[in-house]
Amino acid sequence: MKISVVIPAYNEEENLLEVAHRIKENLPNGYERELIFVDDGSRDDTQRVLRELRATDPDIHYVLLSRNFGHQSALRAGIDYASGDCIISLDADLQHPPRLIPTLLAYWQEGYDIVYTQRQEDQQLSWFKRRTSNAFYQLMNGLSSVDFEPGTADYRLIDRRVAEVIQASPDVELFLRGFVHWVGFRQKKVEYTPEPRFRGATKYTLRKMVQLALSGITSFSVRPLHFATLAGAVVSGLAFLYALYALYIAFFTTQAIAGWTSVLVSVLFIGGIQLLVLGIMGEYLGRLFVQSKARPPYLVRETDAGLLPLGRRRR
Ligand code: UDP
Ligand code: MG
Repeated sequence: MKISVVIPAYNEEENLLEVAHRIKENLPNGYERELIFVDDGSRDDTQRVLRELRATDPDIHYVLLSRNFGHQSALRAGIDYASGDCIISLDADLQHPPRLIPTLLAYWQEGYDIVYTQRQEDQQLSWFKRRTSNAFYQLMNGLSSVDFEPGTADYRLIDRRVAEVIQASPDVELFLRGFVHWVGFRQKKVEYTPEPRFRGATKYTLRKMVQLALSGITSFSVRPLHFATLAGAVVSGLAFLYALYALYIAFFTTQAIAGWTSVLVSVLFIGGIQLLVLGIMGEYLGRLFVQSKARPPYLVRETDAGLLPLGRRRR
């Protein structure tokens, strides 16, 4: 039996030694093991540290991406290269405590295909992160048919066969959190208290968070499109009633036509709804466009010599 651990890293030079050490410390004996670090186009010394780690420890591997492709794509790269019977993914900053690894493995041995973790509400996380994260999951649940649990990030164990589904999926922009729920199989939840980031600052800028949220919503739900239809219907219904009223005033009364207020309000209102609907359609259309080009989700610049090339990874 072999365990693969996948760790995406973007500018994490200060954390790599510690995270490698803590993971190895928590991997039970009796398994083959590999740690695959994916350098997501870091601009700091992540790459050099990874080469050094590799030189001192044959269990450690690295995949260097050609540029920054984002956390989800980096995870995918790691999963693609992993050859273990199960694959554990966790962040490079030790917010996902490696001490859970034995628990994850124990449930896997019991027969669960996916063991995912849920972070307990905790003061360690900034107020902003907690608020935005909760709002995100509420929105996702309201909008999509997949059930998203708050606080379930990308710290999880997946069995080989789940990894194969991920490897085979053609999605250019794969939202793993949703996808892993969607695949089904036997799933088990493990709760934990998050730890503070070991060193450095978050690599998830607001922009990356918004991108993640949008890709989550659009890849798991078409409900925003229904909303567009519904809003369109309601607004045109109201506009029709208002038109009847305006005609009535014009033909059957001598009142002066109502001033610019009502005109302005309705024009603005309808204009706003139209822009919103266009925007929603644009989000989907943009993703269709990206998907239709079918570019790979990431490009690899280099891996260490110990990793099997992609074509031969499947056994
Ligand atoms: N990460 C990545 N590419 C990115 C941004 C982040 O590979 O473009 C990695 C990062 O190195 C870390 C994990 O994704 O291992 C989670 O990022 P971070 O800890 O900054 O996010 P937060 O915990 O603040 O949500
Ligand atoms: Mg973090």
